[in-house]
Amino acid sequence: MTNETWGLVREELIKRVGRNNYVTWIEPLKFSDLRQGVARFEVPTSFFGDWVSRNFGDHIRAQLNHAGAQVDRVEFAVSATRPAAAPQPAAPAPAATRARPAARPAADADDMPGAPLDSRFTFDSFVVGKPNELAHAAARRVAEGGPVTFNPLFLYGGVGLGKTHLMHAIAHELQTRQPHLRVLYLSAEQFMYRFVQALRERQIMDFKELFRSVDVLMVDDVQFIAGKDSTQEEFFHTFNALVDQNKQIVISADRAPGEIKDLEDRIKSRLQCGLVVDLHPTDYELRLGILQQKVELYRSQYRGLVIADGVLEFLAHRITTNVRVLEGALTRLFAFASLVGREITLELAQDCLADILRASDRKLTIEEIQRKVADHYNIRLSDMIGPKRVRTIARPRQIAMYLAKQLTPRSLPEIGRRFGGRDHTTIMHGVRKIEELMATDSQLADDLQLLRRQLQG
Ligand code: ADP
Ligand code: MG
Repeated sequence: MTNETWGLVREELIKRVGRNNYVTWIEPLKFSDLRQGVARFEVPTSFFGDWVSRNFGDHIRAQLNHAGAQVDRVEFAVSATRPAAAPQPAAPAPAATRARPAARPAADADDMPGAPLDSRFTFDSFVVGKPNELAHAAARRVAEGGPVTFNPLFLYGGVGLGKTHLMHAIAHELQTRQPHLRVLYLSAEQFMYRFVQALRERQIMDFKELFRSVDVLMVDDVQFIAGKDSTQEEFFHTFNALVDQNKQIVISADRAPGEIKDLEDRIKSRLQCGLVVDLHPTDYELRLGILQQKVELYRSQYRGLVIADGVLEFLAHRITTNVRVLEGALTRLFAFASLVGREITLELAQDCLADILRASDRKLTIEEIQRKVADHYNIRLSDMIGPKRVRTIARPRQIAMYLAKQLTPRSLPEIGRRFGGRDHTTIMHGVRKIEELMATDSQLADDLQLLRRQLQG
């Protein structure tokens, strides 16, 4: 393979990975050689090499092969550690060749030290439902790139609910609408990495300058810097400098600002100054919507794939943990079905996804049931377990006993123990009492239905 081939392949890679990723990660690669199926590239730092390998290695290999080179593996090595093939010229060569300075990525103005954006994470591919509509609307607003109306936008929610997806979508959208904007997306971990590196290499001024020169800064998973004092400090200053210049900031975390432990109070309060929106756990409709969208995508890839009625509904109902798991399940199902060339039926899904389905089975505890019922009837949790016999407490207690029997695999004596050491006959009596009442008391029947639904998510 020649440098020319690599030139062509690079062109192709722009389309695959997007311009921003291309400029940040592909352009700096220097092709060294191709021997025995291994294509080697020089990279500025080992971090850089790791990153490219992990995120773009497959793309690069595929494109090289596509261009006719026979490549089994792609390797990245730091320039300085490579044994020099020829004696080094006496004069410092790199400056003349306009190679990126190996150890100084932060100093170079076009070398935005951002993380690669996933080209699949766009607004188009984001399914909007009740649990995420607010976050989506706020992200859309930021992506318009108009005057800054809230700063920062703080997105939070559990793992796999779409925070990173939304942030990448904002970046993609801004890049198309306003290509001149300098949009920097990175994880808090990378922020710290960059910061520590700058400290080590005494380039803290470059670091500061770089981060203060962006138009939009997005920091993902900010909870990561909690407890890391000097990184927090620097983050705080960067944050303030950008807010002062009226530059948009978007932050994500796994919980609300006030709930991040070991995060300085002044940072918490700064983060709360903008718009704080949370992504709620998915509901059934959203999960089904996401599955349907993925199926459409797969359809174009694997022709002739048939999914029996009810399979998607089954998955949306059973896999409630997070969207990543849901996607993983579908991917596996499709791969399996296309390998064996069979229609995707409910049985196939149950077989092929047994482990995921088992792991997703919610294990409801008696304590959760007691808590929920106590909440619902406005009584204390301690009264659930305690000895009081007044109707307003005894009835909810019996309801909790009934639900514990219905919704958990626990035996009557076990349930009795969790209700303050009551005898199993007391539990049985409670369960029967509720069964009787349900038939006549429609209010109670409604309550039970609601509680059951809430408990089973
Ligand atoms: P988080 O950063 O909140 O942990 P991600 O943004 O990485 O979650 O989302 C996990 C996976 O789920 C990604 O592949 C993402 O595309 C997908 N996903 C999450 N929410 C949605 C949604 N509303 N529509 C489509 N895909 C989604
Ligand atoms: Mg994320």
